[in-house]
Formats: sequence, structure tokens, C-alpha cells
Amino acid sequence: MDLEKWQDFAWLMVKTQIESRGVEDERVLQAMKKVPRHLFVAEEYQSLAYVDAPLPIGESQTISQPYMVALMTELLQVSPGMKILEIGTGSGYQAAVLAEIGAKVFSIERISSLAKKARNVLSKAGYEVVVVTADGREGYAQEAPYNGIIVTAAADRVEEAWRDQLSIGGRLVVPLSVDVGLQRLVVLLKKKNQWIDTWHDYCRFVPVMPGTRTEKREGADG
Ligand code: SAH
Repeated sequence: MDLEKWQDFAWLMVKTQIESRGVEDERVLQAMKKVPRHLFVAEEYQSLAYVDAPLPIGESQTISQPYMVALMTELLQVSPGMKILEIGTGSGYQAAVLAEIGAKVFSIERISSLAKKARNVLSKAGYEVVVVTADGREGYAQEAPYNGIIVTAAADRVEEAWRDQLSIGGRLVVPLSVDVGLQRLVVLLKKKNQWIDTWHDYCRFVPVMPGTRTEKREGADG
């Protein structure tokens, strides 16, 4: 695979994996043609960066399948200037897609080595995203409220912090556990006096884990 032609691969990825499955938001489609996804995967996987699958990014974590990124971004209904919180930075690719649309992105990652890598690649690719190493179950109160919150790891529950940190009219997109190893994408729209939920595709994400993990405190998982 000749990665100098990555823009052709990104275009094909959008046509054959994303538009073909019904994603229509033009902002999402254009953004995903522009973000160099191969920069967000390890070198040995670069030739696979535009295929229809998630890929390993180290630390037992994955970069999500392109279609899943597109669908979740569409469900979030992002427009330029919106303030968005992401829980689960991983590779930084989802954050890059949001930033490409023109959102102001704050992204939380619990594994410090991944946060560091994501910060580097995001700035190398020219995206201004704030990546914070923290437990995303608490959201990120410092910058709240957000116009949208996107959780890119499987959640057993919708945290109160996420609900609290969303502005009225904002959307929370989250893969919510419905069975062992299986989630369903839910959109929670915050109205003044109520929440409106809509249920979408089934999916499989790596789980939301408690706490943070830094190089000096290995084995803090579980
Ligand atoms: N959005 C990413 C993919 C996320 S994979 C991308 O585009 O590449 C899920 C990520 O969520 C993993 O990196 C995992 O470490 C992180 N994660 C899991 N639990 C978390 C928590 N409590 N707080 C913050 N990040 C968490």
C-alpha cells in the first residue's frame, strides 16, 4: 500500500464503508476524507489504517472502526464552534475528526502513555485538542458545560457527571452495555425538564475502566 495516496484510501473508505451504510452528515463525510487515519495507528498497522475494522493501538486498546467513528459523530450532531467532551482518547482519531469539523475538543484518557502519544500525533497533524489524563467517569468539570459528550468505551452506566456537564439541548452519545461484551449506541438529548433517549446500532467497545494508569503505577487496573 502506497501511503502517499492516503487521501484516495480515505475517500474510498468514506464511500464504501460509511456512505454506503447510511451516514449522510456532509460535515462528517468531508472530515473523514481529510483526517490522515494512518498517523493514528502503530507503524506496523499503517497499511491497514483505512480498512473496515478496529485496530490495536497498544495497552490492549483499539482505534474504533471508521464506520463507528462516523456514526457516533453523526449522532452527536456536531457543528463548528461547539464544545465537545470525549471520554476515551485512545489514538486521538475520533478527537481529530471532531476537531476537523471545527469543534473545540477536550478529550480524557485514563492511560497516560496513550494520552501522550495522542497529544503528539494530534499536534503533528495540526489539530488543537486538549488531551487530559484522568478518569473520564468524572467528566471534566473545569470546561463544562459541553454541547456534546461522546463516550468511546463501553459503559455499564450513564455517569451523573456526564449528564450534569452537558448543556441544555446537548447530546450524549454512549455505547451502553446490554449484555456481556455487547453494547448498544444510545443518544441522550438533554431538554430542560427531561431526557429523550434514542437507541441505535449494537456495537463492541473496550470497557470503561476505573481510575488512571501512569507509567510509574503499573498494574493499577481491575
Ligand atoms: N476514541 C478512540 C478509541 C477509544 S478506545 C480512538 O479514536 O482511537 C477506548 C479508550 O478509552 C481506551 O484508550 C481506554 O484506555 C479509554 N478509557 C477506558 N476507561 C476510561 C476512563 N474511565 N477514563 C478515560 N478513558 C478511559
